[in-house]
Amino acid sequence: MNVLSVASECAPLVKTGGLADVVGALPAALAPEGVHMRVLLPGYPQVMAAVTQHGVALEEADLFGGPARVLYAEGPGHPDLLVVDAPHLFARAGNIYLGPDGQDWPDNPERFAGLCWMAARIAAEGVGGWVPDVLHCHDWQGGLVPEYLRRFMPDRRAPTVLTIHNMAFHGSTSAERIGILRLDPSRFNTGGYEAWGRVSALKAGLIGADRLTTVSPTYASELLREEFGMGFDGLMRARREDLVGILNGIDEDAWNPAADPDVTPYGTPEGKAENKTALRREFGLPDGNGPLCVVVSRLTSQKGLDLLIEALPSLLARGGQLALLGSGDGWMEEAFRRAAQGGQVGVRIGYDEALSHRMVAGGDAILVPSRFEPCGLTQMYGLRYGTIPVVALTGGLADTVIHASPAALAAGVATGIQFHPITAEALRGALLQLCDLYAEPETWARMQRNAMAQPVGWGRSAVAYARLFRDLSARA
Ligand code: ADP
Repeated sequence: MNVLSVASECAPLVKTGGLADVVGALPAALAPEGVHMRVLLPGYPQVMAAVTQHGVALEEADLFGGPARVLYAEGPGHPDLLVVDAPHLFARAGNIYLGPDGQDWPDNPERFAGLCWMAARIAAEGVGGWVPDVLHCHDWQGGLVPEYLRRFMPDRRAPTVLTIHNMAFHGSTSAERIGILRLDPSRFNTGGYEAWGRVSALKAGLIGADRLTTVSPTYASELLREEFGMGFDGLMRARREDLVGILNGIDEDAWNPAADPDVTPYGTPEGKAENKTALRREFGLPDGNGPLCVVVSRLTSQKGLDLLIEALPSLLARGGQLALLGSGDGWMEEAFRRAAQGGQVGVRIGYDEALSHRMVAGGDAILVPSRFEPCGLTQMYGLRYGTIPVVALTGGLADTVIHASPAALAAGVATGIQFHPITAEALRGALLQLCDLYAEPETWARMQRNAMAQPVGWGRSAVAYARLFRDLSARA
């Protein structure tokens, strides 16, 4: 069973968020299921620098403005990559999606169309005798694959799966680009890739893929509702039979408290103590009696951290502390910097993988107050490290945490705290409950042990993906 994964990110080579973790983890998770997955990745500078090239698989004289090749390549954790080497599209420094002005690169539509175009060619022609049975496309950057397959494989199309990691990003552009993007103008309509008078790469995928998946069962059902569908809830309802939620796992080797090179390793909750002391020291926080909370996140309104800014005084008043690592919206970075002036809050603006491990290991609780969260990974890191998640009741946060309700506490199965509605008031209530639970050492230790025992790896989900791919290729 051969599957080509078409994605704009892949950990550890290039990552801006959870998409990279999932794309990076799937090939190894699926191998035991008999699926040979190869990732097709843009040749950004960091990718080209990290991989060893093993020859040219395909050449294209003009890939949306310049010559391109698909290379066989090998990189850290990925022995079997395919890389689109197209310097005019990908050889530029800085963020993979944003220019130095913080805005999307103006040619993002062409850049990821280039990725999809080469994916369709691989499906049609194969590379070195390897032909994918299924194409697994991710988010809008992989959305145009079904459109290009129509062109390269008019008679028999390879089956496609589109995984929605975040419905908020539509990859839309002006209809004037239809020709430039080599799209079929007759499909610029409601049943095709048109959305609100523009070309939407996400819509192309939502319409054209044979099956749709998203990264948690709750987000799959939320996508059918206006509040979460981002304008595509009607389309999702029309395709509900083809939509399934498969929960993300985490990389249990990279996130293993007993063998994490970035922390003092531990196998029981008691082992966190040294890491907590070290974390306080690193963030310049004094000792305290309340819970040390951590946040590792993009700082955007999706993540609901503005609610935390409002609710924070109640946590601090109870002796709690906060250590935050993140970057994003300037006003939010500024607000947390201001909060840090009181001495009980430590803030690092930036992206730092090793520090994120030290924070998850050293924190008592990890806060994820997202307004919507397709799956979320950091609450699962928290579970594995005995760091109690305090999360909004939405998406994958609803599917991975067992709320400390009276019933769950009585049954001894709680792993965290969930709050709803997603408001500062409800978050404040959750933080106060956190302080109460933290003050009961036995209950707290029980929750930590429960958390550390939760299955958060890829096991069950890898089986679900493999079954989906197999079903599809059997029907093709
Ligand atoms: P999203 O993909 O929406 O950003 P996820 O929770 O699915 O949210 O994945 C975020 C991933 O990025 C996690 O692996 C998290 O640890 C990591 N991450 C986010 N911000 C930072 C940061 N500032 N430093 C290090 N890692 C970060």
